[in-house]
Amino acid sequence: MVRKRENAVFLTCDYSRPAPPLVLKGGRVIDPVNDIDRVAHVVCAEGSIVGVVDEVPARFADAQTIDATGKWVVPGLVDMHVHLREPGREDKETIATGTRAAAAGGFTAVACMPNTQPALDEESKIRYVIQRGEHCPSRIYPVGAITKGLEGEELAPIGEMVHAGARAVTDDGRSVARTNIMRNALNYSKSFNIPVICHCEDTAISWKGHMNEGVFSTRLGVRGIPTIAEEIVVARDLLLAEYTGARIHIAHVSTAGSVRLVREAKARGVNVTAETCPHYIALIDEDIGMYDTDKKMNPPLRTDRDRAAVIAGVADNTIDVVASDHAPHVPEEKDVEFEAAAFGVIGLETSLGVILTFMVHRGLLSPQQLVERMSVAPNRILGLGRGSLSPGDCADLTIIDPKARWTVDARRFHSKSRNTAFEGMKLQGYAGGTIVGGYAVFNRNV
Ligand SMILES: [Zn+2]
Repeated sequence: MVRKRENAVFLTCDYSRPAPPLVLKGGRVIDPVNDIDRVAHVVCAEGSIVGVVDEVPARFADAQTIDATGKWVVPGLVDMHVHLREPGREDKETIATGTRAAAAGGFTAVACMPNTQPALDEESKIRYVIQRGEHCPSRIYPVGAITKGLEGEELAPIGEMVHAGARAVTDDGRSVARTNIMRNALNYSKSFNIPVICHCEDTAISWKGHMNEGVFSTRLGVRGIPTIAEEIVVARDLLLAEYTGARIHIAHVSTAGSVRLVREAKARGVNVTAETCPHYIALIDEDIGMYDTDKKMNPPLRTDRDRAAVIAGVADNTIDVVASDHAPHVPEEKDVEFEAAAFGVIGLETSLGVILTFMVHRGLLSPQQLVERMSVAPNRILGLGRGSLSPGDCADLTIIDPKARWTVDARRFHSKSRNTAFEGMKLQGYAGGTIVGGYAVFNRNV
């Protein structure tokens, strides 16, 4: 089924049927895993990569062709931190609209968080999400809950959820407050070789806070969330990971102190990976201006010093992954006074443009490193078995137009929600096309 919207085309695919041959012609092919960075053609057939070639073999002369001249062709980008709100809040987002937004943002796969209503805390709910995502334009990998109902009291059946297809566990949205429960979760997840994704927040300290605690929150008269609310739990979870030998992934790192803690833990061999989000790279607390609720998220925007440390962490690979923390909300939850507004911003359709604009085009991150942070690392952490263009690999690819200049206009988003922190921002670069299993599921310029 083809669904047209403005100048873009989305396909809804039956991925179980072999995709017809497809050739991406003349792009700059960037594949850090195979150390490829040159202008070439990428040939795909039956859902797999045939090869990165200088001459297209004669037998593919009649294949569907996409002209990638002037663009980058890279292994499909993966956003490992999104909230798709289904089941329960389909007024904010659905698996169908969220995966269209993902494809339009260049993501061939997303990992969705379990804080739905009800929470994804048992096998049947994991299966439900996977089944709902089957024909969507982006692949969907559910993350299961650590505790039943995300209530922090009783472990969810982690083994059964992993068996059903969960790629990680988290209580994202809140920390697991009880250290003994977190320790048990780490020990369990270790036996299934999955990461525990840590939302690090000591709510005894952050409680009733709405933005970063500092000079600017004082000026606005808004109760703050200090950096230490995040860092105390980052430190705890790093110690627990070190003690148990389990694998942890620190979600949405926002402070200089968290970056330092992760860097030190990695240096002494702790099994940790970390992520940050585009808004912590591009914005600071002062951008909240006069109580802009579309810049309210958790953890909150921090200071310029924190932002610089986060950028340095992404550049030196202390922070392995950039993920959006796409968190859709309806206007009724944002068009209210600052203290009453919901935490969270959407990001699937702006992530790539923000990272290109604020890091790659400023010389802070190479194009290869961008592919590592947005494709190779999330693939590795979640064990998806993709993120490279070797012959036989799955034909999940993103075509990046690094030069296109555009202005963020939420009305044009494919997401159901509009709560972006980047409205009106001028960006350079976006996804020109998204290919999943050899199907061109999104093509911007049709
Ligand atoms: Zn979170």
